[in-house]
Amino acid sequence: MTDFFVIGTPIGNMEDITLRAVRILSEVDLILCEDTRVTKNLLNKYSISKPTMSYHSQSKLSKIDYIISLLKEGKNLALVSDAGTPTISDPGSLLVSHILKEAPEVKIITIPGPSALVSALSISGFPSSDFLFLGFLPHKKGRETLFKEIANSERTVVFYESPHRIMKTLDSLKKHLPERKIMIARELTKIYEETAFGIPEEVEKYFVDNKDKVRGEFVVVISPKK
Ligand code: SAM
Repeated sequence: MTDFFVIGTPIGNMEDITLRAVRILSEVDLILCEDTRVTKNLLNKYSISKPTMSYHSQSKLSKIDYIISLLKEGKNLALVSDAGTPTISDPGSLLVSHILKEAPEVKIITIPGPSALVSALSISGFPSSDFLFLGFLPHKKGRETLFKEIANSERTVVFYESPHRIMKTLDSLKKHLPERKIMIARELTKIYEETAFGIPEEVEKYFVDNKDKVRGEFVVVISPKK
């Protein structure tokens, strides 16, 4: 039986990796990485020395064919991304769908680990038994419509945001849902980890007053419409 492991890795703090993930990474024949340099840091920390190969959003279909040929030869492979769970706003879904179709004899196994969206949601205090995850919002087309949908959502909404757009996003939230309580989680599990709560105007003010904090990685969590 050939195995293809989809492995969650830390979103910042290198200790956030499961014992099983470390074992599997040290047992597979090859590790597919979004960026081999990033993954090598993690592998070095756990004294894992295994061959790596890049697999990222720009990878061509011929790379998928090659990966499938390795699986057909009986090689056990692992897929990791730079941070968190592969395929969640990260590359990998297309590869998994090809393996399911073209090599159904391969067992696809999840090795669960951190994901920034679940980590942020879990400390928001907002209703979380069901929620809407939007990944990264589109930059232009459909963006305004999406904010209207978010304003009308009766579920907690979670999305990822970059430091370049976070102020713009807070401005849109102020416009579309001025009274709604939101949380911005920044740099989770890292040295400068923090959360900012409030209505959009309050959170925006916090970042205007603390411009040095408009950097790093952000998750935006929005409480539901009552
Ligand atoms: N696959 C990853 C996961 O499972 O969380 C997400 C990958 S996506 C390309 C990267 C985005 O996730 C960042 O831009 C940021 O919005 C969010 N993110 C990742 N790590 C984070 C962290 N430590 N703190 C806050 N947000 C984070």
